[in-house]
Amino acid sequence: MGRSNVGKSSLLNRLLGQPGLARVSKTPGRTRAIHFYLADGRAWIVDLPGYGFARVSREMRRGWSELVDAYLDGNDDLRLAVHLVDIRHDPTPLDQQLARALGARGIPALVALTKADKVSGSAAGRARARTRRLLALDDDVPVIVTSARTGHGMADLARAVDAALGAREPASSAGSGTRPPR
Ligand code: GDP
Repeated sequence: MGRSNVGKSSLLNRLLGQPGLARVSKTPGRTRAIHFYLADGRAWIVDLPGYGFARVSREMRRGWSELVDAYLDGNDDLRLAVHLVDIRHDPTPLDQQLARALGARGIPALVALTKADKVSGSAAGRARARTRRLLALDDDVPVIVTSARTGHGMADLARAVDAALGAREPASSAGSGTRPPR
């Protein structure tokens, strides 16, 4: 989850090692559907639409909140929410809203700061601290600095995803088969 153009498709492709799987958009705010990717036959990675694109109407923004709230409320077996924030920009009010929505529901979460190749190491450290403070993250929510371009942080991200999946029964043994969760 994250705002439009945050680098979600790029990170997903890098994480799954399949360039071109998720469509990297040249027109921000274009993807409005929920996409499900079956990873290694054992977990669904769910790609929610980006939010906060300046040119969409208030109506559409409200639509986004309702979609995400309905998604979060309708799925009680979410293992991990990955909240993406562009390392060059402070989290927006919608990012704060999302962090609160996840925290209030007790959904395990991590924040991935994206596009780290665009800033220095010290700026990345500062962004990390600012993001943690502005999103009022609990101590158990990791903030991982990543770059889909260089691969920086991808091993940490993959480890966190694996740990979250391992924390409970694998999705396949829960009888969910290869059909996406609703
Ligand atoms: P989405 O809209 O959140 O799915 O974002 P995309 O993956 O489509 O990326 C939006 C833009 O950011 C594209 O122009 C990407 O090439 C660029 N981008 C994505 N990840 C990175 C990254 O790690 N480093 C840099 N420099 N650019 C990136």
